[in-house]
Amino acid sequence: MAPTGVPVRDALDSALVALRAAKVGTPRLDAEVLLAHALGVDRTQLFLEPDAPVTGAAVHTFREAVRRRSVLREPVAYITGTKGFRRLDLHVDGRVLIPRPETEHLVEAAIEQLPRGARVLDVGTGSGAVALALKDERPDLDVHASDVSEDALHVAYANAQRLGLDVTFHLSDLLARTPEVDAVVSNPPYVEDGARLEPEIARHEPPGALFAGMDGLDVVRRLIPAAAAAGARWIALEIGQGQAAAVCALAPGGWVTGTVPDLAGVERIVTLREL
Ligand code: GLN
Repeated sequence: MAPTGVPVRDALDSALVALRAAKVGTPRLDAEVLLAHALGVDRTQLFLEPDAPVTGAAVHTFREAVRRRSVLREPVAYITGTKGFRRLDLHVDGRVLIPRPETEHLVEAAIEQLPRGARVLDVGTGSGAVALALKDERPDLDVHASDVSEDALHVAYANAQRLGLDVTFHLSDLLARTPEVDAVVSNPPYVEDGARLEPEIARHEPPGALFAGMDGLDVVRRLIPAAAAAGARWIALEIGQGQAAAVCALAPGGWVTGTVPDLAGVERIVTLREL
């Protein structure tokens, strides 16, 4: 008996209607990613077999995914539970910020600039993205990671275990309970309190990973001196648009600063180094 069910192309079309009506930014891409996830196949499979039927549990899974995406405006990564970052597939959920492409530049800066065998600490590791990508691509480094959120550390630790990457985790407010280090990397919260954010971010991502006071620099102002006090002689930070000058001005005396633009041309990474 031929399996019954809606063909892939029709399932995508009806999802598109719902996602467009909800003004989701990338409706077609999202529909495809969510359907591929529900079917447990690669997205390319949808193009190869547009007439294949969507049957069984996949029907309900996909319908629920589209509801979460359109009605609740949940980010795709929380619905599928995964996000690609550098060479890794990370598990993510609402306990951690979803790793952004911009943050890959932070990893790049550290890979290029850190000396062999350096001990580096990822402050506010969230999903573990930066620390785990560093260990993956520079196994010579002694990688540590901290977060003030126990919830986030559970996610990061599980990612480390699953990926088989040797990173040491610390439950700590910034560097309050971490060992001496040579270098610090961080994508700290840097959004201004009260900033208007997309519903995906505002409703679903952890506020503690986003907001940092009136000018968004409350955490950075504490982090730089704390990192220097812990022995770090090299610091790389992800920052928000327009924050580069203010962050460079926080460098300790005698340190030199540099910036790295993201793919949109925004100064996104600040590096600080003792001369
Ligand atoms: N990049 C995030 C955003 O788009 C902010 C992340 C952060 O504060 N570190 O809002």
